[in-house]
Amino acid sequence: MLSHFREAIDEAPYDLQRRFVERLCERGVVVGGSAREHFTPALIPIGGPLGRPGRGRVLLAGDAGGFVNAVTAEGIYYAMVSGELAAQAVGAAPGVDSLADRYRRACDYEIGAELRDSVRIQRYLFSDCRRIGRLIDGAHREEKVVRLMLDFVGGSRSYRDLRRRILSRSPSLLLSFVWDCLTTQALPSEPGVSGI
Ligand SMILES: Cc1cc2nc3c(=O)[nH]c(=O)nc-3n(C[C@H](O)[C@H](O)[C@H](O)COP(=O)(O)OP(=O)(O)OC[C@H]3O[C@@H](n4cnc5c(N)ncnc54)[C@H](O)[C@@H]3O)c2cc1C
Repeated sequence: MLSHFREAIDEAPYDLQRRFVERLCERGVVVGGSAREHFTPALIPIGGPLGRPGRGRVLLAGDAGGFVNAVTAEGIYYAMVSGELAAQAVGAAPGVDSLADRYRRACDYEIGAELRDSVRIQRYLFSDCRRIGRLIDGAHREEKVVRLMLDFVGGSRSYRDLRRRILSRSPSLLLSFVWDCLTTQALPSEPGVSGI
């Protein structure tokens, strides 16, 4: 998260990347080196889709419309889908009167719920790194849960289905989830952007 890099890390992004690559080289994981001219960091908008991704004759698709999965920071698929939906909205009827509204509804129907759910998970999971630690820690004990999570991250299972299955497997997890939400700040200081 960009906020973490701003608050906790003093080094310049390129220096971090170069050091990371050097370490991988030392361990024999990769060969070669980092080239400054190929280092193009960018911000990925992970705050969820814009409430109004268009106005008048202007429709925002992809990153510009916030169509990025907030957990995985994947945006290629959603950029392609929203681009296609924008083209369909333009082609569906002449005139601009309801164009932006048509586009917003189509995006909402096709990818809106999924992306909003991903923001909820991101805000819960990433607001406290101990939660991720617990998830990784419990992976070997809960193989089925790990499988469910991987299905979700891979896109073959919806968040709603994941939540229902995980909570029905473990009522105690439900209680601790509610307790966590009540007793900790569930939002990171800057939920909207991830820096890569
Ligand atoms: C380092 C990194 C790794 C990533 N890894 C993944 C991944 O593994 N999987 C995944 O799904 N997503 C990944 N993403 C996110 C993904 O790249 C973006 O979500 C996706 O490319 C968004 O597509 P887009 O068409 O909206 O924008 P872009 O792909 O950014 O395309 C916008 C284009 O517009 C051009 N442009 C900008 N301004 C102007 C202008 N004024 N005039 C003309 N052209 C202009 C830009 O040059 C660019 O070519 C990654 C992003 C980064 C930065």
